[in-house]
Formats: sequence, C-alpha cells, structure tokens
Amino acid sequence: MWKKLLQGKKFVGSNLIWLNICFTTVFILNIIIGFTYMANSVQSDYQRVREAADLRIQLLRLENALIDQETGQRGYLLTKDIEFLEPFDEGVRYYAQVAASLLGQIESVPELTYLQEKVVRLIGMGESWKEEYGDAQIRKVMAGGTITNTELLRGKERFDSFRDLEAELLREVEIMRDERRVELLNGLYYLFAIIGVIFILIQFFKQYHLQKGLGRIASPIIQLDQAVASYKSGYIYSKLPVYREDDEIGRLVKNFDLMREEMEKEKHDLQETYRMINVLNQARSVEEAYRVALQSICSLVPCERLSIITRNGDRTFSIKAVFENGTFDYRDVPLEGEENDIYEMLQRGFSIFHNDWSKYRTNGSLTDALYEQGIRSSLHIILKKDFRVLGVLNLLSVEPNHFSALKKERLEMLSPMIVTALENATEATRIQDMALHDSLTGIWNRRHFDQSLDLFVKRYEQEGKNYPFSLILLDVDRFKVFNDTWGHPEGDLVLKHLAKLLETCVRPGDIPVRFGGEEFAVLLPKTRLEEAEIAAERIRKQLELESPSRKYTITASFGVAEWSEGFDRQDLIRLADEALYKAKESGRNRVHAHRQEQGGESA
Ligand code: GH3
Ligand code: MG
Ligand code: MG
Repeated sequence: MWKKLLQGKKFVGSNLIWLNICFTTVFILNIIIGFTYMANSVQSDYQRVREAADLRIQLLRLENALIDQETGQRGYLLTKDIEFLEPFDEGVRYYAQVAASLLGQIESVPELTYLQEKVVRLIGMGESWKEEYGDAQIRKVMAGGTITNTELLRGKERFDSFRDLEAELLREVEIMRDERRVELLNGLYYLFAIIGVIFILIQFFKQYHLQKGLGRIASPIIQLDQAVASYKSGYIYSKLPVYREDDEIGRLVKNFDLMREEMEKEKHDLQETYRMINVLNQARSVEEAYRVALQSICSLVPCERLSIITRNGDRTFSIKAVFENGTFDYRDVPLEGEENDIYEMLQRGFSIFHNDWSKYRTNGSLTDALYEQGIRSSLHIILKKDFRVLGVLNLLSVEPNHFSALKKERLEMLSPMIVTALENATEATRIQDMALHDSLTGIWNRRHFDQSLDLFVKRYEQEGKNYPFSLILLDVDRFKVFNDTWGHPEGDLVLKHLAKLLETCVRPGDIPVRFGGEEFAVLLPKTRLEEAEIAAERIRKQLELESPSRKYTITASFGVAEWSEGFDRQDLIRLADEALYKAKESGRNRVHAHRQEQGGESA
C-alpha cells in the first residue's frame, strides 16, 4: 500500500490516507511550533519576574549594607573598640558595590527607568547617612568627642527615612513582580488556549474531510447497488454515479457503464431479432422475406453490403438478394469464380470470416470488383437448418477486422430461423402461384385474370385515357369435334400448345390466361383496340401455322374489346365475348373487334 502511495498510484482510500498524513503533519507542526513558542515566551516572562525578584534582593542587600555600617558605627560609638570599624567599612564597600549593581540593573532595563529616580535618591540617602552621620560621628569620637542624643536622633531619622523610601521601593517592586507573575501565567493560559483551539480546528477539519472522503467512496457504491437492484427487475436505464477518480471504484463505475451499454445493445439486438422473426414469419413473398432478413441483419450487425447466395436446382450458386447503401435488390446473379470457396465452406460446415481482404479473400471476379470498391472484410454464415443447407449469408465491410467471433456466433444462431422463414415464404409463394395458375397448361388462370383486371381498372381510374387497355378472348374452333376425332388427351396437348404459344406471342406485361375449357384470354395493358386486334391476328396466324401435329390444323376465333369510361368488369368481358361470337358466326378462324364509336363490331 505504502509503495503504491509513494508511486503516486490511486486506489480506494488513497486520498483519505493522504488527508490523514496532511492533518497529522499539521498537528505535529502545531505542537512543535506551539511548544517552542511557549517555552521562549515563558522563559522571557520568567526572566522579567526574576528581574523584579533580583531588584528586591538588591534593595534588601543595600539595606543590609547600611545596617552593617550602622551596627559597626553604633558598636564603635558605644565601645570605642576599633574592631567595630571593620564591619562598618565592610558595609561601606558592600553598599557601594550593591548600589553600583543596582543602578546598573536599572539603567540596563528600560522598563525599570521609572524607578531610577527613587533608587538614586535611596542610594544617595544611604550615602549621605554614611557621610553626614556614620563617618562624621566615628571621626568625632575618634577625635575624643562625644555624640549628643540630638546627633544620634538625627542620624536615626536619616536612617529611618532611608528605610521608608526603601520600603516604598520594595512595595513597588513587589507589585511589579506580582504583575509580571500574572502576565506569565496569562501568557501560558493564552498559549495553551491557542494551541488547544488549533488542535480542535485540525480535528474538526480532519473529521469533516474524512467524512466527506468516506461519503465519496460510499455514495457511488450505494448508487451502483441501486442500479444492480434495478437491473434485476429488468430496467437497465438507471443513472450511474458520476465518479471520475482513476481508482478501483472509478474503474468499477466505468466497467459497469460499459456493461450497461452492452446490456442495452443486447436488449436492442434481442428486440431487433424478435422483430425480424416476427416480420419474417409474416413475409408474403420470397422477395419480402429476403428484404426483411437482410435489412434486419444489417441493423443487428451494421455493415456496407449484405447478400444471400443460394443453391439452385442444378447445384450452381447465384446471388439472390443484395442490400447495399440502404437499397434492396432482388435478382439472380450467378457467381463468377467464387463457387469453389462456397463449396469448400459448405463441405467444412463452418461459417467463416475474412478479416483483411488485402491479405486473403475468396477467388472470383465479383470479389475482385468488390475489393476495388473498397470492401476489406467479410463474414460468411452458412444458412442451414438441421442438415438442410439453403445457401450463404454474406456481410461485407469497408473496414478490416470489422467482424468478430461473437457476431458470427449470433448470426449462426439466427441461421435456422432465417432458413425456415425463407422456406416458408418460398412455399407460400408456390401455393399462391398454384392458386393463380392453371394446372393443365401452367399459365395464369381466371383468378389471376380477375386480379389483373382489377389492377388495370384502378390504373385507368387514376390515369384515364393515358392508360388504355384491351382484352382478347379466343376459343378453339370446333374443339368438341377435335376431341371426338383425336381423343381427349390429344385435346389436352393442343390446349398446352396453345398456352405456350400465347406466352411466347404476347409482349412482356401482357397477361395470357386460360379462361376456362378451350377458351383463353389475353389482357393487354397500355394497348388500344387497334393494337390488340393486330396482336390477336398475330396469334391467330401463328396458331394456324403451328399445331402439335402435322395430322391436323388448329384454329381459333378471337373477340377483342377495349376498356372504356363507364364500363364495369363484366361489360368488357361481355363485349369481347360478343365479338368472339361474331367471329364464330362469320366463319371462325378470324378476329372480331368491338367498336363502340361505330356503335357495333367489325371484322
Ligand atoms: P365452336 O367453339 O367452334 O363453336 O365449337 P366447339 O366444339 O369448340 O364448341 P364447344 O364450346 O361447345 O365445345 C367445347 C369443347 O371443348 C367441349 C369439351 O369437350 C372441350 N373441352 C373443354 N375443356 C377441355 C379440356 O380441358 N380438355 C379437352 N381435351 N377438351 C376440353
Ligand atoms: Mg367454347
Ligand atoms: Mg370452341
């Protein structure tokens, strides 16, 4: 932990440890500075108290020195013994010494100068006593004189006034000493109080920041806990805590956010998958099924181009549908050299992805062209269900390494569903086709005729005369006799022959149908009566020329009518049928058209 801390690395609580170190440092500094300052301050205050005490002692010594002088003088005056002069002289010397030191002390300390005048006066008083009474009286007695009571009394008075002044000074010094003692104590109290307050403040701030730091650690954990709880109930859009520290919690929040994004993506993918399955199952045509499958896969795994390749009946492969740049193309394009790779992949049975086309891609001119267009990676999913292989789903991207194993796995899981949907759509289309085709001849039947007629009528209603359309009805001539002569199966052959002939003779967009029995019809969009008449004539001639057998010739009669304003569907059929009747009536093997303007039909 300390190593990490010293390396400046962040981890949960590292801020708190730094905070603690800072506060402890401040606390120790407070103690050191506080106590050093206190020691200095106490020392200087104590010095001042001692000064006062010294002053007092000096004053007392001064008094003692004078008392020594007076005792010596008195002893000598009473006994005339010169031995008493020794303490007197001693006292004089001592007095001078103490006086000098006293004056020195007062002069050196500016605070004491206010006492100077009195001290000087006191010293002077003692000295004057010594000169005027002490020395003078000793000299008088030495000279044989006597000291009168008055003289003694005067000396005593001078001595008393010395003592009075000294007592006054001592009182003042005493007061000064007391004041200084109080000052020292107060200083101590203040310092203790300041250090104490600083200590309390440090503790307070430490506690405050500690709590804030703990809160900063706890709050994201609490919010994460709430988010997890909400995820459990299926709601994944909870707000995550804002935490920017680069430590374990920061990483936890960041990773949690990534996990949330992943979950949201998963949810989106799941919804998209459900939607795709749902829409796929509702697809009513193969084309729609291909379109829905490719569009949905593109939103699951975004990429630039998607295609489905399927195996044809003759075991060749062709591209059936392409979804590129948001547009869907339904077609049937054979592969150009890529078949071998497809065979190989299907044989191995594994879906694959090519991460970098510049290093490896399948062989084929189609692939080369795509590479030229910028495609750089691809994913190929085998579309199979159980053991049935339908083809390959291809996803192509302009970015190298765009596809991952996870995406591959996802799509592989979807593969059977896509196959089922495509098979279902194919089957549905086949059934629909069956319902709209004639079982004998294979061309459209009456139901499809009705549907197409409805569409044409709608177009006419929208576009009017810009969308003319006509109907040809044709009926094989004397078919009953034919059947009777050549047999019913031969009759069926003729009907099949006629159907094929119709399909090849009409233009693309025209709709040939078996109308019923040996009657056929052709619906011709964007065709006027005259053009329809020409078309009918072309068919008639062709039929006359070609028959399934040289043994007989087949002819048919044709009735033609054009759609006109105010018609209903039955009107058109009726008018064409009437024209057909007219063609039969006027000799068969001919075309008759209904002409409204002329109020009748013409051959
Ligand atoms: P026309 O039209 O020239 O007046 O004489 P037609 O002999 O063709 O007259 P009609 O319409 O009465 O006869 C239709 C015949 O077509 C009756 C039936 O035997 C035959 N036919 C109808 N459907 C089929 C079929 O599916 N196969 C065969 N072989 N014959 C059919
Ligand atoms: Mg008939
Ligand atoms: Mg007939």
